[in-house]
Amino acid sequence: MSTPRSLSRCLLSVVAPAFNEEAGLAEFVRRTKAALATLPCRHEIVLVNDGSRDGTLRIALALAQADPAVRVVNLLRNFGHQAAATAGLDVAAGDLVVLIDADLQDPPELIPVLAAEWEKGADVAYAQRRSRAGESPLKLLTARLFYRLLRATTHSDIPADTGDFRLMDRRIADSLRLMRERHRFIRGMVSWVGGVQVPVPYDRQPRFAGATHYPWRKMVSFALDAITSFSVVPLRLVTYLALVIIVLAVLATLTVFIVKLVNPDYFIPGFPAMMLTIIFFGGVQLLALGVIGEYIGRMYESVKARPIYLVEGIYRADAAGRGVVSIPTAPVPEAKP
Ligand code: UDP
Ligand code: MG
Repeated sequence: MSTPRSLSRCLLSVVAPAFNEEAGLAEFVRRTKAALATLPCRHEIVLVNDGSRDGTLRIALALAQADPAVRVVNLLRNFGHQAAATAGLDVAAGDLVVLIDADLQDPPELIPVLAAEWEKGADVAYAQRRSRAGESPLKLLTARLFYRLLRATTHSDIPADTGDFRLMDRRIADSLRLMRERHRFIRGMVSWVGGVQVPVPYDRQPRFAGATHYPWRKMVSFALDAITSFSVVPLRLVTYLALVIIVLAVLATLTVFIVKLVNPDYFIPGFPAMMLTIIFFGGVQLLALGVIGEYIGRMYESVKARPIYLVEGIYRADAAGRGVVSIPTAPVPEAKP
């Protein structure tokens, strides 16, 4: 960019997906506002209520009523973190967009640091965790393994220990909006877009309130989405594995042959050959089917080309500040079949 970047001319959007965050949402907005107040730019806060079953929507609407900078996107039901974040990104109007969790695990105080990186020339400034407070050793270990595995199996240069907490400029946000795939792994998609991407280290905080919404089942499916969205390595691994097993089967067959020459009565006739064949090829085929199934399942999800999320309404304070009004939903690009 040739013209110097200046925050003072910018609108900065903060996008925060929230699912059952009634206990911490007001505090999140308070701390975010405090952090944004130190910046010269205008701002808006887009709260996405992802089908919460608690009072999150009520609190979000009250926050919007109290502050014209707050907008609330209310999804029809729970669509999941990545879909909710996408809904927020679609609505955000800023020249700069910050994606952040609403549970205060991502400190809003880091936003000015991210914005400073943008002024220095970054297109994306992503928060990289130096530590994670208040998480179980098992979560830490699996998160570590996950990032290593991801880096080892994908070609896209996805940084380790990075969540979705990041600031991106309009060009990156627009590129991201063009990607309407169903199985979303936003941090990977942002690195795929490219541009100047700069890490900003921080210490991850414990949740302000409530519990994680990523139980094991969701974490496994998230990890599978991450790897299969960016890589066909699992398919290739199966090919390698199949080759290895075939070589082993040949060696085993030779061994059986030699043992039979030395001691013809060592095996029940026909038994070793049958077992070898059944075990090895059974294993290879099952594995191959499983991996192919993973990809076919994702293709099936994609060819349906359903919307990533559905919006019940978008709300903000009315001009006179007397209540919240619903604003027309912005046109959202959806994949054409
Ligand atoms: N979230 C969401 N929809 C979901 C699950 C989570 O919008 O179905 C939000 C949640 O409110 C939080 C963020 O996504 O702001 C991250 O979720 P969580 O804190 O549960 O994940 P963790 O930090 O444990 O990985
Ligand atoms: Mg969290």
